Amino acid sequence: MIRAGIVVTGTEVLTGRISDKNGPWVSEQLAAHGVEVAHILIVGDRPEDLEAALRFMAAEGMDLIVTSGGLGPTADDLTAEVVARFSGRELVLDEEMLEKIAEILRGFAKRFRLDEAAVLEANRKQAMVPAGSVALDPEGTAPGLVVPAGEQVVIVLPGPPRELQPMWTAALEAEPVREVLARSTPLRAYTLRMFGAPESEIAKSLREIEGDGVDLAAVEITTCLRKGEIEIDVRYRDEAAAVADKVREGLVGRHRRETFSLDGETIDTQVAALLRGHKLGLAESCSGGLLAARITDLPGASDYLNGSVVSYSNAAKAELLGVDPGLIEAKGAVSPEVAEAMAIGAMERFDADVAVSITGIAGPDGGSEEKPVGYVCFNARLGDGTVIARDPVIPGKRADVRERSALIGMHLLRNLLSGSEPPL
Ligand code: ATP
Ligand code: MG
Repeated sequence: MIRAGIVVTGTEVLTGRISDKNGPWVSEQLAAHGVEVAHILIVGDRPEDLEAALRFMAAEGMDLIVTSGGLGPTADDLTAEVVARFSGRELVLDEEMLEKIAEILRGFAKRFRLDEAAVLEANRKQAMVPAGSVALDPEGTAPGLVVPAGEQVVIVLPGPPRELQPMWTAALEAEPVREVLARSTPLRAYTLRMFGAPESEIAKSLREIEGDGVDLAAVEITTCLRKGEIEIDVRYRDEAAAVADKVREGLVGRHRRETFSLDGETIDTQVAALLRGHKLGLAESCSGGLLAARITDLPGASDYLNGSVVSYSNAAKAELLGVDPGLIEAKGAVSPEVAEAMAIGAMERFDADVAVSITGIAGPDGGSEEKPVGYVCFNARLGDGTVIARDPVIPGKRADVRERSALIGMHLLRNLLSGSEPPL
């Protein structure tokens, strides 16, 4: 088993000012190559801390070490220097890289009217590479590096994710990295997504599957609760393919209604595909437009979303959606009846053939014995009169109730458009 460690540098990441995008991303890439990522360390922009992190990775026997950040032209960008010292190599000027960087910078200098000579001088530093290392062409101005360091190979990449990610491919092609990866067998993987099944139920199902004689130790199963859905990742080597199939059959068979994705596809993508050829109208109260935000998150939403109303007050429900004030008076703004009237109103006003409405009590105040905080009414309907109406009590705080409302709205849309039964 090839093992790897990732060292993320940057005081801004360490302090939490920005959240680390590189560690998780690189980790996922390595996992796809069958490499076991053992550690992700975050260190500030201090050379001695970076060096300590590299030594830790070496002492723990990592085959690969990947660093991110600290390759820029400024004085606090010290990664190349520290990695050179760690690998016992001297920094030497890479003439070819210097010319490549100069070429890029001449373009910059021209575009931003900067002093070309000063810019070039500051960036000479970026062309200094550890002797005997492989330099990777820059996406910005910083070249990446692949540095053999005794038992380890260190991949050095820049901090900005939009630079790091494209340079990853080049890093994989560098000879020292290929040699390490050749010793690893790539993993196969699939992702199941479920909605409406508690995590404990999945654990129980896995125990049952194991009880049926399936050797779960042959595959790696990660179950994670993510934004109200359950994501089950199964990774396995070729020889365990039959076990992995049995796990899938066992899980899907036990949770047919809850399983909405067999290939890792997200609910948002599925709903977008199902909405093709339809026209959607939305009416939201407690979710404040979060469902519309999700729908419009994907490009091409204008093909199927006609519009959305955030009708928070009773007056807005009446005036914008044509909900009968008498109905609100009689049943309450949060009621299946008002949800139905909102959805019908949205369908008419937006000239749509699909509509979803959401009205509920997000809290922390406003709950009653009969309608507690988290009580939310949904009405999803088609022009032909097909309806899915639900009124669950959603657990959690205000933010949870609002976000979960939008998520349930997405799932009810999927159920409605695909003719499947909701798990709630
Ligand atoms: P530059 O030439 O841009 O200075 P660099 O390799 O020196 O590149 P850093 O100085 O470490 O990179 O980071 C530059 C910027 O890239 C950070 O301010 C931050 O916006 C982004 N960045 C760096 N590391 C990460 C990370 N781990 N996750 C997300 N963004 C990051
Ligand atoms: Mg920098």
